[in-house]
Amino acid sequence: ATPTALMVGTGRSAKMGILIKNGEVLEAANRVKTVVFDKTGTITAGHPQVTDIVGDTQVLQIAANLEVASEHPLAAAILAKAQAENVAVTAAKNFQAIEGKGVQATVDGQPAFIGNDKLIADYQLSADLRDRMTQLQGEAKTVVLVGVAERIIGLIAIQDAPKASSATAIAALKHRGLRTVMLTGDNQRVAQAIASEVGIDTVIADVLPGDKADHVKQLQADGPVAFVGDGINDAPALTTADVGIAMGSGTDIAIESGGIVLVKNDLMDVVRALELSQKTFNRIK
Ligand code: ADP
Ligand code: MG
Repeated sequence: ATPTALMVGTGRSAKMGILIKNGEVLEAANRVKTVVFDKTGTITAGHPQVTDIVGDTQVLQIAANLEVASEHPLAAAILAKAQAENVAVTAAKNFQAIEGKGVQATVDGQPAFIGNDKLIADYQLSADLRDRMTQLQGEAKTVVLVGVAERIIGLIAIQDAPKASSATAIAALKHRGLRTVMLTGDNQRVAQAIASEVGIDTVIADVLPGDKADHVKQLQADGPVAFVGDGINDAPALTTADVGIAMGSGTDIAIESGGIVLVKNDLMDVVRALELSQKTFNRIK
């Protein structure tokens, strides 16, 4: 392709809100065989809402105290719920975020935690709570457990619905013969429920933030990979992929790591970027 053709391609795409950093990126997009998606904020809207609380009023109170210092999207959902319920919130002491698992801190002089079942491996979860957790996860809700002094006192379910265009975009990618994969730190059941809603072929769940790039490398064994993501923890996967596609709403580091940035955060623009690449590189040989 001539540089002029590339400029035309990228100039036109920029007007649609698809920013392409250079010609190599656009060319690589034409060779992609697999498109890998982060879940939260990429396939889903990234506006999680608390839907269910199992346990007494202490559950939300302690959860909110734990989450004050957290930057995780789940923390924002819990704090919004606490505010809506007029729960008084005071920041917990000794706050510690545990990557891909949750938060630990001291609340009212006692060790407390909130997070997934990887965080609580050493604690006993009652059969009742385990059943409720499984059921809520099957409804595509992320479940976090709340514990105080070695005892799990309840759980909170949080829902983050897919974006309106996610299912259409994934159908269009599959129609083009591409494989689609979801790569997420969330639980397998939740991830599978959302994947089914939007039609994703393959789910890789329970992935620790540091391991996303390794999964991209493994998928590259079957051909070039595009990775679509928005979070801090997506940056290594965005640079490892043959084509890194960042959401414009994403964190600065994700946007810097992407070769393509989707200003409108619309997954149909993944399809449009691949179509543009095909048009540009099949026309000029
Ligand atoms: P994602 O791929 O969805 O961005 P993360 O690696 O950020 O996933 O988090 C994975 C899981 O760790 C969450 O689904 C949740 O169960 C747990 N977790 C992480 N941070 C928190 C937090 N601040 N509060 C509660 N749970 C958390
Ligand atoms: Mg995300």
